Amino acid sequence: MKDVENVKKPRGKARVLTGRCVACGARCQSACPVDGVEMSEGGEPIIVVERCIGCLKCVKVCPAGALEMFYTAKELEILARLSGKGEEDLDEEELERRRRVGAYRGVWVFIEQNSGEVARVSWELTGVGRELAEKLGVELTAVIIGDKISHLANDAFSYGADQAIVINDPVFRLYRTEPYLDAMCHLIDKHKPEVVLMGATGMGRDLAGAVATRVKTGLTADCTGLDIDEKRNLMQTRPAFGGNIMATIMCDRFRPQMATVRPHVMPMPERRSGATGRVIEEHFTIPESSIFTRVLEVITDKAGKDKVDVAGAEFIVSGGRGMMAKENFGMLEELAYLLGGVVGGSRSAVDAGWLPQDRQVGQTGKTVRPKIYIACGISGAIQHLVGMQDSDVIIAINRDREAPIFEVATFGIVGDLFQVVPVLTGRLRELKEAR
Ligand SMILES: Cc1cc2nc3c(=O)[nH]c(=O)nc-3n(C[C@H](O)[C@H](O)[C@H](O)COP(=O)(O)OP(=O)(O)OC[C@H]3O[C@@H](n4cnc5c(N)ncnc54)[C@H](O)[C@@H]3O)c2cc1C
Repeated sequence: MKDVENVKKPRGKARVLTGRCVACGARCQSACPVDGVEMSEGGEPIIVVERCIGCLKCVKVCPAGALEMFYTAKELEILARLSGKGEEDLDEEELERRRRVGAYRGVWVFIEQNSGEVARVSWELTGVGRELAEKLGVELTAVIIGDKISHLANDAFSYGADQAIVINDPVFRLYRTEPYLDAMCHLIDKHKPEVVLMGATGMGRDLAGAVATRVKTGLTADCTGLDIDEKRNLMQTRPAFGGNIMATIMCDRFRPQMATVRPHVMPMPERRSGATGRVIEEHFTIPESSIFTRVLEVITDKAGKDKVDVAGAEFIVSGGRGMMAKENFGMLEELAYLLGGVVGGSRSAVDAGWLPQDRQVGQTGKTVRPKIYIACGISGAIQHLVGMQDSDVIIAINRDREAPIFEVATFGIVGDLFQVVPVLTGRLRELKEAR
């Protein structure tokens, strides 16, 4: 420990923990000796990082534990060494684990395709994967497995991938768990990525769970937010405990860190035509005879063609328990028709039998991201909000001005929907006719 004797103990900076402040009356501001705490209009502290001297006074005085100290990775390293927890003090097992974890580098997105058609969620993940890769200072890799799918590498580059690992073999023509699992595990073992993202689709959910089990790592399903912390860990946020809280989950002891994300949760990145990248062709196959599953016939969901695609709609008019009866949804259909959109609903509306289940928006329904979402008679329970709060514009109609839906609404109309909706529909019709 001699080499650290003259090193000054890092003091770090204070930071505010979201959602914890109880607006106690600016005790943290009064305690700060350097005017390093300003207050927002809502009475919450804002740390002026340049002024903070890391004296801990605000942290100690806060009655709600809403402030903590934040250290950079370098500072954490020095602190560990000063507190006698330098690498030389770690046991062999811990050292080995750290070395193993440290060997993993890079962000991967599994590009889900079916007969060469890529699931949109894969490009959404390429967008968020790009941001994560930039924060980590590593490359973003698209992993493309299938038969005659090499051309998809160019699409991956245009959505932000730096490189594409491609496995092209007839055995991967149609998705089956076993060959895809073997291929993914082979690639992970060989290239050691630190983050692997997949769509929370039928295929993604099946594959991600199987891969995480085999490579003995953690998997967070249905994430709604992804970020990187100061120790290079993936922060995976998702609703927990019935959607009543948002939990941020980390997998700091194992690699790769795996997450699935539902379609439409992440924004679609812009396509940059002509972008190029490196293609890594991997020659991997397994004999057909060693696979237990055979695909005898592919039956496409013909009825599905006529089904309403709530998740992909640009305009959604949704109804909740406030609609009172199935017959009343006719007026939402009319409004949706004029907008060129579709009708969705809350779980209460679905449970009441007013709408089919595939129209349900929310945690146990669809995640939507339309240009306009009109919520009629929906209170705005967290389980509903997680499915629609990223819509570009949210218009809420509710007669209860305290309804939580107004907290996420761009425009809120406090009133009786049976009066408001016909007025909106009438005005829209007039505008259309005037064109
Ligand atoms: C594990 C779990 C998963 C869930 N998943 C989902 C999910 O995916 N999606 C989902 O939506 N819910 C989900 N829920 C249910 C959720 O908690 C709420 O119960 C549900 O969203 C409430 O639906 P609502 O807003 O239509 O009904 P309510 O909460 O009863 O709200 C009705 C609203 O209508 C308003 N209203 C009534 N009459 C009028 C009128 N004439 N004019 C204007 N406003 C009026 C009222 O003021 C009220 O705000 C889930 C719950 C759990 C526990």
